[in-house]
Amino acid sequence: MVRIAVINQKGGVGKTTTTVNLGAAFARLGKKVLLVDMDPQANLTVHLDKRPDLESNTITSLLVEDAPLKDLIQTTTTAGLFVVPADTSLAGVEQVLANRIGRETILREALDVAEEAKGFDYVLFDCPPSLGVLSANALVAADRVLIPMQAEYLSLQGMAKLLEVIQLVQKRLNPELQIECILPCMYDPRTNLTNEVLNEVAAHFGNVLAKTRIRSNVKLAEAPSFGRTIFEHAPDSNGARDYAALAAELMGMAVEAPGASEPEPEPEVGPEADGEAAPAPADSAGVGPSAAGVLPPDASAEAAG
Ligand code: ATP
Ligand code: MG
Repeated sequence: MVRIAVINQKGGVGKTTTTVNLGAAFARLGKKVLLVDMDPQANLTVHLDKRPDLESNTITSLLVEDAPLKDLIQTTTTAGLFVVPADTSLAGVEQVLANRIGRETILREALDVAEEAKGFDYVLFDCPPSLGVLSANALVAADRVLIPMQAEYLSLQGMAKLLEVIQLVQKRLNPELQIECILPCMYDPRTNLTNEVLNEVAAHFGNVLAKTRIRSNVKLAEAPSFGRTIFEHAPDSNGARDYAALAAELMGMAVEAPGASEPEPEPEVGPEADGEAAPAPADSAGVGPSAAGVLPPDASAEAAG
């Protein structure tokens, strides 16, 4: 079983979109996948067409009342894809657990003892945009970290802080934890700054920067309102192609990253057609404001392990 924490304390970078659609892509490749909603916003739960206000057996029950995992797992409309939902009561959990000894290891212990957990090939944790006790539980329960990022100047600052936290978790609580990849999301190769920032990320973390790019794609933004994964909502979209490519990349299948190397589309199709960003030209060079110097020179060394 592979356990992946999808984390970035910066909000709105594509964590939930990635958790849902990467999970669905794994399931379509025949894997049994469990998604765990660790965010009080419960966006993952809603994205999978559940009602957080009506759920009673949620991740809160596991963290606070020691409810067994098997009572919390729900099916979804995708075969092989399961979810442990969240509800808004999760917002109070940080406080409830504040004085509890061993609060960071509750989720890992629950997964370790649950027979049901053993049947899953992948468990993905959708983290909130903060680095509190909920994110800590995901980092301790995970063996890999996937960091969605938007290629923006300020993203680099947050990245250094996140890597510090990951290093701390590695040192104190979970020495097995490895960075799976940093994943560029809402990627638009037409923006010079995008390329500039990604060059900077590649220079510092080349070994963990994903080959796949998740392009900006309006279908990905629409899918949650229908309670569907991208493969149900728009199976022919760039969003579906990019998440399928990501799953293949993470499973070690030979793939060419579609967002990174497809040729420029014909002008009459228009880069904005269907609200999708044009694929990256292979030799695009950034000329925007410099992103250099935001990251510490050795930020990746320890965390990437
Ligand atoms: P939060 O920190 O609040 O949990 P998040 O990191 O989980 O946010 P998402 O909810 O996945 O981010 O995405 C933020 C918004 O951007 C959502 O409205 C989502 O539909 C949209 N979005 C995500 N990825 C893409 C993409 N590749 N193209 C276009 N829109 C996207
Ligand atoms: Mg989210």
